Amino acid sequence: MLKFSDLSFIEKDGKVIVKLYRYFSKEFEKGMLIEEFGDLQIVDDRIELSKFPGERGEKRFMRFFRKYKRDLTYALNGNRAIFVDEDMELPLVGLNFMGVVDKGSEMLEVKPITNCNADCVFCSVDEGPSSRKKIDFVVDVDYLADEVSKLLHFKASDGMSMWINPHGEPTLYARLVELVDKLLRISYVKDVTIISNGLLMTKDTVDRLAELIPKHGKRVKLSVSVSAVSEELSKKVMGKAYNAKLVQKNLEYVVDRLDLSITPVFLSWMNAEEMVKIIELAQRLNRNKDREEIRVAIQKFCHNKKGRNPGKEQSWESFFKDLKALEIKTNYKLTEELGKIKETPELPALCSKKEQIRVRVICEGRYPKDRLGVFETPQGRRAVTLLGCNPLKGIVKANVIQSKHNLIVAKC
Ligand code: SF4
Repeated sequence: MLKFSDLSFIEKDGKVIVKLYRYFSKEFEKGMLIEEFGDLQIVDDRIELSKFPGERGEKRFMRFFRKYKRDLTYALNGNRAIFVDEDMELPLVGLNFMGVVDKGSEMLEVKPITNCNADCVFCSVDEGPSSRKKIDFVVDVDYLADEVSKLLHFKASDGMSMWINPHGEPTLYARLVELVDKLLRISYVKDVTIISNGLLMTKDTVDRLAELIPKHGKRVKLSVSVSAVSEELSKKVMGKAYNAKLVQKNLEYVVDRLDLSITPVFLSWMNAEEMVKIIELAQRLNRNKDREEIRVAIQKFCHNKKGRNPGKEQSWESFFKDLKALEIKTNYKLTEELGKIKETPELPALCSKKEQIRVRVICEGRYPKDRLGVFETPQGRRAVTLLGCNPLKGIVKANVIQSKHNLIVAKC
């Protein structure tokens, strides 16, 4: 649950700005807060309420702030943002863009935040400045780690890998290191991989992540999506704010401290020439022999209905032909056999496609006519994405159009 200690306070031009999780804030007229709480002062990022000192004031402020958790501003893009904690009663299983996604293997995807500081032309989830999504989300770190832990205890499967793979950039999540720490504490977890664009992978974040390795005796890996290294072209491929030099500098620091893989997306008509340069970058970075060799895993661009599609999808045959040619040219192994995927138990499906369900609306979704709601049965609770839905509260009837791996989408 969001705590008073998560908040910091700034006073500016007669306003009090309440900040949380680094990038999220809510602005109040100071006079309005004085009417609510009496005389107040902002000292060293903290608020002091003369009439309600200490814990009493903290509790009172959190009761007041409760309704504003849904009405924050995201400094990244100015979007409205919603802070999700237990208080909101939205389960963290059920949505493809937030919470935890379990497709029944030894891998769970953990998604603490939405949106991105890059703007890749091929973004399969349409994030970044050119995204058409209107509302962003950030999840309370304790709520997220607790829900992952509950799911892992249900699965009771050892050797699980956690992939921090948001619809967006995980380093925008101010509690990233704390989240990794909490995940590694769970006995079922073998390792954590963070999928990042590398722009904000600062020395401080890398050092703090690296400290978790001996602390837990488990691995922390970084998978960085570098799809171009030439300065000009990288801006065309990954957006205006992308800084290829900065990412390479960050990777030089990462490579001595965390296991690293580089995962470019191959656009045959756009960045084919860059692949050799990316492999050369990996070869240069590979100088640290104590760590596992950096893997370059080139990904095929796949057309995605809800993503950005800058060109035609290449066939698998032609993609593998290009990979083979690159392997020969660079003498670098790019293809490898996928090991057998271990199956693990999934939570029971609570509904099926074409079924009509009753969903309690909780809040807006990412697009203007989307809502998020909760579907409850005696077997459990799941979050649901509701499409074409107007009400902002109450119970709605909706037809399930997708219910796979407990990811539920329904139409009102
Ligand atoms: S870094 Fe990832 S999430 Fe961000 S725009 Fe690129 S593909 Fe999308």
